[in-house]
Amino acid sequence: MTTHMRANYTLTRLYMAESFSENAEMSLLEKDVHYLVNVLRKKEGDTLRVFNGRDGEWLAEIFSLSKRYGDLRIIKQLREPQPAPDIWLCFAPVRKHRNTFIIEKATELGVAKLQPVITQRTQFPRLKIDKMRAQIIEAAEQTERLDLPIAEVPISLTEMLSGWDSKGRTLIFADEGGDAKPALEALQTLSAPAAILIGPEGGFDDKEREMLRSKPYVTPVSLGPRILRADTAALSLLTLWQAAQGDWQS
Ligand code: SAH
Repeated sequence: MTTHMRANYTLTRLYMAESFSENAEMSLLEKDVHYLVNVLRKKEGDTLRVFNGRDGEWLAEIFSLSKRYGDLRIIKQLREPQPAPDIWLCFAPVRKHRNTFIIEKATELGVAKLQPVITQRTQFPRLKIDKMRAQIIEAAEQTERLDLPIAEVPISLTEMLSGWDSKGRTLIFADEGGDAKPALEALQTLSAPAAILIGPEGGFDDKEREMLRSKPYVTPVSLGPRILRADTAALSLLTLWQAAQGDWQS
C-alpha cells in the first residue's frame, strides 16, 4: 500500500511566491498578515509551513508581526518537492460560483493545469485569471499539495485542438451523447499523460462532437445515464482518472 507522507499537518500552511533557503527572510503579504493576526492569533516566534509550488515545503518562524506587516525567517525544509500526476482539466467556463467550485475542487483533486476552453455554447466566456490564481492558491494551501496547478488563459476549442500534442497527451472527452464507452472502462486502458474536456451547460454542438471524435488522440467517455452539470462532470471524471491512472493507485 502506498503511504502519503505528511509533515506536521496541523501547522498552518501558507503559499509564498519567493524561493526558499535556510535563514532567508521574507515579508508577508498584507492578506496573510491579516489572516495570521486576526484569524489565527499568531504571534512573533510562532512557526508555520510555507510552500511556493517549486521547493517542497519549509518550516518558517514569524520573527516580526504587527497589524499590517510581518516577516518570516525560513528555518529548514520539511518535504522535498513531489512530482504530481500529469492530468489537465480543460473546461468551458460556467457561472461564477460554479467556476469557483470547479477550480477549488480540481485543485484538491490534484489537477496539474486548468485550461478554460471557449466552445460554441459557452455562455460565460469571461473568466478572471487573477481570481482563478487566487482561488488555486487558497485551495492548494488547504490541501497539502506541494505544487500549484497552472492557470491558463481561456482559448477557443479549435485553437486548443490545433495546438494539441497529439502523440503526447490523450484528450478524454466527456461526451454526453450516450454512446461513448463507460468512463472507468476507457480510463483503465489509457496511458498518462492526459487531459479531461468538459463542455458548458448547453453541451457541445454536433460539429464539435464530430470534430472531437475524429481526432486520434481523443477518447470519448460516458459518465452514465444521467446528464451531470458541468462541475459535477468535471469532478467525477477527475476522480475516476485519479483512481485509475493517477496517484490514488497503490
Ligand atoms: N445540455 C447538455 C448537457 C451538458 S452537461 C445536454 O442536455 O445534453 C455539461 C457537460 O458535462 C457536457 O458537455 C459533458 O462534457 C459533461 N457531461 C454531463 N453529463 C455527462 C454524461 N452523462 N456523460 C459524459 N459527459 C457528461
